[in-house]
Amino acid sequence: MSLGCDLIVLEELTSKAKQIQEDVLTKILKANANTEYLQRFLQGSSDKELFKKNVPVVSYEDVKPYIDRVANGEPSDIISGEPITAFFRSSGTSSGKQKIFPASKIFFENIQIIYTLGSLVMSKYFDGFKQGKVIMFTFTRPMSTTPCGLPLAPALTSFTKSEYYRSLATKSTCPLQIILCPDTKQSMYCQLLCGLVQREEVVRVGATFGSVLVQVIHFLENYWKELASNIRSGHVSEWITDLSCQDSVSTILVEPNPELAALIENGCGQKSWQGIVSRLWPKAKCIDAIVTGSMSQYISALEFYTSNKLPLVSKAYASSEAYFGLNLEPLSKPQQVSYTFLPNMSYFEFIDVDVDGLTTEGEIVDLVNVKLGHYYEPLVTNFSGLHRCRVGDVLQVTGFYNMAPKFRFVRRKTTVLSVYVESTTEEDLLKALAQATVVLESSDLMTTGFTSYADISTVPGHYVFYLELKAKANSNITNVLPLDNNVLVECCCVMEESMNGAYRLFRSKDEHIGALEIRIVQQGTFDSLMHFFVSRGTSVVQYKTPMCINSAEALKVLEDKVIARFFSDKSPPI
Ligand code: AMP
Repeated sequence: MSLGCDLIVLEELTSKAKQIQEDVLTKILKANANTEYLQRFLQGSSDKELFKKNVPVVSYEDVKPYIDRVANGEPSDIISGEPITAFFRSSGTSSGKQKIFPASKIFFENIQIIYTLGSLVMSKYFDGFKQGKVIMFTFTRPMSTTPCGLPLAPALTSFTKSEYYRSLATKSTCPLQIILCPDTKQSMYCQLLCGLVQREEVVRVGATFGSVLVQVIHFLENYWKELASNIRSGHVSEWITDLSCQDSVSTILVEPNPELAALIENGCGQKSWQGIVSRLWPKAKCIDAIVTGSMSQYISALEFYTSNKLPLVSKAYASSEAYFGLNLEPLSKPQQVSYTFLPNMSYFEFIDVDVDGLTTEGEIVDLVNVKLGHYYEPLVTNFSGLHRCRVGDVLQVTGFYNMAPKFRFVRRKTTVLSVYVESTTEEDLLKALAQATVVLESSDLMTTGFTSYADISTVPGHYVFYLELKAKANSNITNVLPLDNNVLVECCCVMEESMNGAYRLFRSKDEHIGALEIRIVQQGTFDSLMHFFVSRGTSVVQYKTPMCINSAEALKVLEDKVIARFFSDKSPPI
C-alpha cells in the first residue's frame, strides 16, 4: 500500500477482507514453511488447510523457547523465513509478565499504515486537521540488545527511532531529538515547552494511552511557573542539560515572549484546572489517546481537564504481537468505541469464549466469520514467527465495516483478582471503579490513579483498592485529607454491590471474602508506580497501569504512600 493513500484504500481493504486474509496466510506460510517450528507440523507444506489442522494454538510460553534461541544467536529460520532484525519488549503491565517478540520490517510497515490511515480517518471527522500541528507526548527508552546483539526495545520505541517514523512526524510541535532524549523528565518538559510556544497552531493533543496524558498534566501542574518563566526570558532552564534538547528548544523558543508567558500563567494560575487543555490549546479539536480497556479509568480525569468539550479519541488497537485495527468512528463515546480489524496486518483467527471469558475452547473462526455479539480471544499468525498465538484479550463483535468485523475491547482474559473461588475480571474492576467514581464526583473528588490487590494475609482474604484522589475545585490542594469517612465507606459499598454474583455470594457470608478495603495513597504515587515499572524496562509510552498488583516490590511502592484506609460496613445484596 502506498503511503500517499486515501480512504479508498480502507474501503478496499475492508471489502476484500476475506481474500486479503487468505493472501496474507499464503504469504506467511510460503515464507515460513521451512522454519524449524513449522516443519514440525507441516513438513515443509504451505497448505492452508493443513496449517489449520496441524499447527497448534499456543500461548507465548509455548513459543518462548524458540524465540529465546533466536535472541541468543541461533538463526532466524528457527521461527521465521524473514530475517528477524529486532525484538520488541512488551510492556508486561497488563499481562503481568514482560515478553519479547521477534520483529521484522513488515511490522514497522504495518505501524506506518495504521498511522497513515488513522490520520486520514481523523481528517475526515475534524475540519482543519491537516493544516494544524499535533502534540503527541511520546517518549523513548534507550535500546538494549539481545545476547546475540539484535536491538531490543518496546515496539513504539523501536518504531519512533526508525526511519518509518520520520515521514509521519512532520506535524509535530516537537523536534524529533527531544522525543529521542532518554531522560523522560527533560523530554517531557521540553515537549511541553515547544507545545506551549506553538499553542495557537495545535489542533490535536494526545499520547498513545490516556494514562500518559494524565501524567503529563500532573507534571505541568508542578512546572507551569517555570515553563512560563522560560517563555518570558526566551531561554530554557539550566537543568535541561541534554544538548539535543537544548538545541531543539532553541529552534522553537527563539525569543522572549512575555505576552505568552502571562497567558500561560493566567490559564494555569486559576484555582481549578477544569478545562485546562482547552485553555492552553484553544484550537485543539480532540484528545488523541486510548481510553478503552484498562485505560477507561482515566476518562473522568481527561473529561475534567477538557471540561467535557473535546472528544476523547481512542484511535487504534495494537500489541507487540500485531497491529489489529482502527476506530473508524473517532467521535464515538469512549464506552462505545469499536476497532475495525484491518485484514492486511496479520492473519487473524478467533476463539469463541463465553461472556465471562472462560475459554470453553469453542470454535476457532476466521476474521470474516465472527458472529455479531459473540466474545472472542484473537489468535495471531504474523510475518515474524508467531503462529496461532493467543493474545490474551477478550473482544466482542459489535458490527462490520464492509466485510471486516468491528470489536469492542472487553478486557484482558486472565482473572485479575480472586481470594476464594470467585473470579473477578478486569471488566468487573472497572465497573466497580465507575460506581465509586460517581460517589467521589458528588463530593468534588476525582480519581487519578487506581489499582487493586488480593490481600490473602487476612482471614478471610479481601480485596484492596488503591486510589489516588484529587480535589476538582481547587487544583492547588495537593492533600485531599481530611477525607469524609461516609463518602469513602459508601465507595467501598457501591464497589462491592457492583461485583459479580460469586463475589457477592461469598462475601455475604463473611467467612470466605472479607470487607472490601480502599487505601488512599498520596498524590504522585501512581507516577512513582509508573517509574518503578519503567525502571524495569517498560516504556512510558506503552505503560498501562496494572489493574492488579502481583509483585511485592510494586506493592511496596504503593504501601509506602498509604494515607488512609476505609472498609465497607455491610455485605452487598446477593
Ligand atoms: P503491549 O504488547 O505492551 O503493547 O500491550 C498490548 C496490550 O495492550 C493489548 O493486548 C491490550 O491488552 C492492550 N491494548 C492495546 N491497545 C488497546 C486499546 N485500544 N484498548 C484497550 N487495550 C489496548
